[in-house]
Amino acid sequence: MISSVLPTYNRAPLSFVKGEGSWLIEADGRRFLDMGAGIAVNILGHASPELAAVLKEQADTLWHVSNLYQIPQQKALADKLVAGSFADTVFFTNSGTEACELAIKMARKYQHDKGHPEKTDIITFEGCFHGRSSAAIAASGSEKMVGGFGPLLPGFKQVKWGDPEALKAAVTPTTGAILIEPIQGEGGIRPVPDQDLKALREICNEHGILLIFDEVQCGVARTGRLFAHEWAGVTPDIMMSAKGIGGGFPLGAVLATQEAASGMVAGTHGSTYGGNPLGCAIGLKVLEIVSDPAFLAEVNRKGGLLRQKLEGLVASYPDLFEGVRGQGLMLGLKLKTAPAGLVAQAYAQNLLVVPAADNVVRLLPALNIPDEDLTEAVARLDAAAKATTALAS
Ligand SMILES: *Cc1c(COP(=O)(O)O)cnc(C)c1O
Repeated sequence: MISSVLPTYNRAPLSFVKGEGSWLIEADGRRFLDMGAGIAVNILGHASPELAAVLKEQADTLWHVSNLYQIPQQKALADKLVAGSFADTVFFTNSGTEACELAIKMARKYQHDKGHPEKTDIITFEGCFHGRSSAAIAASGSEKMVGGFGPLLPGFKQVKWGDPEALKAAVTPTTGAILIEPIQGEGGIRPVPDQDLKALREICNEHGILLIFDEVQCGVARTGRLFAHEWAGVTPDIMMSAKGIGGGFPLGAVLATQEAASGMVAGTHGSTYGGNPLGCAIGLKVLEIVSDPAFLAEVNRKGGLLRQKLEGLVASYPDLFEGVRGQGLMLGLKLKTAPAGLVAQAYAQNLLVVPAADNVVRLLPALNIPDEDLTEAVARLDAAAKATTALAS
């Protein structure tokens, strides 16, 4: 008989009853060191006292009002995002998938309204992940996600990852947008080189194509800049955000330039929950904390520390690991084989890490993780690597 919860997940036999900073406490009392943070969501740790205080105050005041009315918390969060980014305007969603939907709609509407109704095609990249809606799975082109769910939303073209020539060849007069993660998350922590992002921007400018960055996983201070694309000095026309932006409260956003958003007039898009007072009050607090230059400097320092320790681990287990990649506190350990064994051995060490494609184990801890927890995480990873290597030989 089917389980009462639709069985679409492969779940580990762990159920956590409490969180404290970078630690999760299992029902049986075991304490797990969390290097996944809900897949880059709990960026200020579990049950952050600062966020909990804002949540409680807003919960006692006003949770939800319709977007039929003004929402000052939403306006304050949008103002701060606009002030701190390339964007002129923001729409709030509840998830990354919904942000993907709007990003695609916005790009097509722009081309349509600018007299290019033929420019409906969107170029995406092999290994990408943009969510689970019919549009987002079409964007991914991944057989695992699309199989059996057709007909898919048409108008997507996948290009090989890291192949600028293939990209140039894919651009045609019907190309309306290019959608890319500056660092692929699910695809295995694959950063796009700065010069490739710059080249993308130039191609878009030359051909009247909109550039969409999906920063759902790599954004919101994760890489040590507020948004990952800042490292390359390249700005998109449209950007998707979610995951970390609510620090654990479901929140997402689409940021855009005035030009790219010009087709999105009253009545063209909406959301019941998106941008509600509760979510936006929390999002504003998250943003106040993580956009502080001193906080970002700490993310960079901690990222450097973790990376250095991981390089040491790679050197200790050359048969198991191939290397480390990523930026800030979005790091991937590339293995020579599938990562499931190492992830299971990490669980046995009461350590939570997250597998990704391309034989990668992801480390996406809370951005305020104490240094001693980083040291402890690598000690546990070392023990897990030792056990994995022993099993393999
Ligand atoms: C998680 C993720 C999404 C989807 O976000 P949901 O909140 O799960 O809908 C989209 N893009 C990227 C890069 C992601 O990591």
